[in-house]
Amino acid sequence: MRIVLLGPPGAGKGTQAKKIADRYGIVHISTGDLFRDNIKNKTPLGQKAKAYMDAGNLVPDELVIALVEDRISKDDCQDGYLLDGFPRTVAQASALSEYNEKVGKPLDCALSIEVPEDKLVSRIVGRRVCPNCGASFHIKFNPPKQDGICDRCGEKLVQRKDDTEATVKNRLDVYNKETAPLIDFYRCKGVLKAVDGDQDVDIVTADIFKALD
Ligand code: ADP
Ligand code: ADP
Ligand code: ZN
Repeated sequence: MRIVLLGPPGAGKGTQAKKIADRYGIVHISTGDLFRDNIKNKTPLGQKAKAYMDAGNLVPDELVIALVEDRISKDDCQDGYLLDGFPRTVAQASALSEYNEKVGKPLDCALSIEVPEDKLVSRIVGRRVCPNCGASFHIKFNPPKQDGICDRCGEKLVQRKDDTEATVKNRLDVYNKETAPLIDFYRCKGVLKAVDGDQDVDIVTADIFKALD
């Protein structure tokens, strides 16, 4: 199964992606995580991406497209993948469609997680993430079992540098301008499914499984 996850920053893409990937045995690819790893390891790609990310702007299309095409051409993606945080522009979505047509492996589903905008800021500023496995928690809405420690791997949780109120506003503007049009893009292709992301994490997960099964 080949899936893209759509939704504004804070919608719960990362949270749900891990559960979807486990259930269907497909690879979870988060472009945000890939960039954060590149920044941590001080690679040339990380150095190019850092300033854009810190400001809450999008990394240029050509860098992201090359990164994703390289990743989904790997052996572990041949039976399916879940893209989280990609595509984010019409140019990225078109490039992915062209690539998938070329290799004869079209997308099965674009899954949109819908959350009203006024809920997103508190989700983002209360988010704590695991720098090791990428798991995402929330100090109030989705706390780890042990304060400040990742449930999945035991690492100490951190706050992302771009998860501040100052940056969130810009990220939401960028989403509305650049990424929201993808919902119509995939609706026109006949692969769009939407779920209500403004419910408890487990209920959202159940709705997603119902949509995908
Ligand atoms: P995204 O990857 O879409 O930016 P995350 O999965 O990181 O979003 O979730 C954003 C924040 O909201 C995290 O702190 C997460 O724990 C929390 N969260 C995720 N799903 C829900 C939900 N259904 N209800 C409340 N908070 C949630
Ligand atoms: P969010 O929780 O806001 O959905 P992500 O972890 O997906 O955040 O992305 C963090 C940042 O990484 C984005 O604000 C952007 O700078 C960069 N980024 C991630 N994916 C893409 C992409 N597909 N295109 C451009 N920039 C991206
Ligand atoms: Zn972890």
